[in-house]
Amino acid sequence: MSSRISEEELNKMLSTTAPAKEKADPKKRWIDRMLRSAKKYHKICPYFDKKTGNCFIKQLKFTKNTRCDRDGRFDGCPVFVEYLEEKYEWFKSSGQTPPVDFRDLTMFV
Ligand code: SF4
Repeated sequence: MSSRISEEELNKMLSTTAPAKEKADPKKRWIDRMLRSAKKYHKICPYFDKKTGNCFIKQLKFTKNTRCDRDGRFDGCPVFVEYLEEKYEWFKSSGQTPPVDFRDLTMFV
């Protein structure tokens, strides 16, 4: 008996299991939602200091290099995503429901 599966069967399995896994990760879904929401309100990163080119998040964390090396393009920025991850964890640990709009998130900074 052969244990190999055809490429068509593999693609079918992957297409049915991948979205279910994403659905099961509420943190990732919330982060994606916040990114979409942030893009709606901001063309460049809301934590980007246009005058100095620094990142407010990095400054808050007292990192050595506080410069934004992305010129404020926050789509896919690891610093931005990590910040959202930390916020999500904070909301969960304090028993609060994370906001659904990015503007509401800024009230908790
Ligand atoms: S490093 Fe990322 S979070 Fe910080 S200002 Fe630049 S784009 Fe924004």
